Amino acid sequence: MRTMVVGGGIGGLTTALSLHAAGLECVVVEAASTLRPLGVGINLQPHAVRELTELGLGGVLAGLAVETSFMTFADRHGNIILALPRGRGAGYRWPQYSIHRGELQMALLAAVEERAGPVRTGVRFEGFAQDGDSVLVTLRQGGRVLRERVDVLVGADGVQSSVRARLWPTGDPLLWSGIRMWRGLALADQVLDGATVLLGGSNLAGKFVTYHISANNPRLLNWVAEVKETEPGPVREADWSRAGRLSDVLPHFESWKYPHVDIPAVLAGTRRILEYPMADRDPLPRWGEGRVTLLGDAAHPMYPIGSNGGSQAVLDARVLARCLATHTDPAAALSAYEAERRPPTSALVLAHRALPIEETIRLVTERAPEGFTDIGEVLTAAELAAMADAQRRISDADVRALNERESWSV
Ligand SMILES: Cc1cc2nc3c(=O)[nH]c(=O)nc-3n(C[C@H](O)[C@H](O)[C@H](O)COP(=O)(O)OP(=O)(O)OC[C@H]3O[C@@H](n4cnc5c(N)ncnc54)[C@H](O)[C@@H]3O)c2cc1C
Repeated sequence: MRTMVVGGGIGGLTTALSLHAAGLECVVVEAASTLRPLGVGINLQPHAVRELTELGLGGVLAGLAVETSFMTFADRHGNIILALPRGRGAGYRWPQYSIHRGELQMALLAAVEERAGPVRTGVRFEGFAQDGDSVLVTLRQGGRVLRERVDVLVGADGVQSSVRARLWPTGDPLLWSGIRMWRGLALADQVLDGATVLLGGSNLAGKFVTYHISANNPRLLNWVAEVKETEPGPVREADWSRAGRLSDVLPHFESWKYPHVDIPAVLAGTRRILEYPMADRDPLPRWGEGRVTLLGDAAHPMYPIGSNGGSQAVLDARVLARCLATHTDPAAALSAYEAERRPPTSALVLAHRALPIEETIRLVTERAPEGFTDIGEVLTAAELAAMADAQRRISDADVRALNERESWSV
């Protein structure tokens, strides 16, 4: 069985590794002429780290990433509201990692090329047709149009997926929350213990997130600034590489006096600022048809606020490979994959859209606009517990279930 994966991002490359490990043939086509280490920081949750470890990449991750200790919420003055332990500190057998997206992608690429052969870069997916026995894929390489027959086609081509657009030609709009995100990397003194994801402020009134992402450079700090600009509605594009401007983001955070990190200095010290609309799409009633399916952001783009973009793509990849390896009929395998992965990821899209901890942060701002020294005087224990639960709903797997379930390797 030969599978073509469209897209050499985190999801597509993990799919190639997973199919190879399951003894299945796979080719990855990637529109970019060269894969370069683009993007800034992301977080990989323990369930994704387990899968990458089972693919033999545990040591590589540990050598690149920072093992995340806490996810810590603060008000806009830096007063700490809640600190949730992450990864092994929360009882999982696997760590959570904060990592440079591009470094992760390059590590996956190196493993794919070593084990399964080269990724075909500079090759853009354009369309497909299928009968009961195969899929005829149309690709463009430079000026040439190529037509290739495969057994299975997987669209892992990200938030602006062309495979999804072919499956849903009537349109499936990108929906903007109205929140603009700026992202970047800067060199800074250690923030807290050097391994905490620190989230200050609120999505609805200005939020600043920082975390260190490099095992080899402890000063390298990833930041994300989020500002509500308008009411939710459709948006034309979401381009992860779009350049942002210091003059757009700095005014929102200039007055922030944070004890843990000098936010204006971090912003001013960032060489390349990126801008992105916090956008998603409605969950689909089905991902694919016959021998064609979707994976990762192509299947379930969601707000990047729960450490789920890369992590869920890794889980999709592993389940897809297991289903293809354990079913003789490819269409039945894809149905089984979708039945396992579409319900939980659709629920996550909607759970992220609800911005679940905003209500508690709003209470803190309302009750203690100038800050506080003891959160116990601002929120009741029940309110704090509700905030912790709301965050866990979007960012945690069940600890025992993950620790005890059998491996997905075949
Ligand atoms: C350049 C880039 C930078 C990013 N930076 C960040 C970041 O800083 N923080 C963050 O949280 N998330 C970032 N993301 C998104 C993050 O990688 C994903 O949310 C997550 O990892 C899921 O990955 P994915 O493989 O589903 O999609 P992606 O990682 O988006 O990968 C999709 C791949 O498909 C390729 N592709 C698209 N269309 C076609 C086509 N027609 N034919 C062939 N190939 C095609 C793209 O070039 C890309 O390599 C970035 C994505 C990209 C592409």
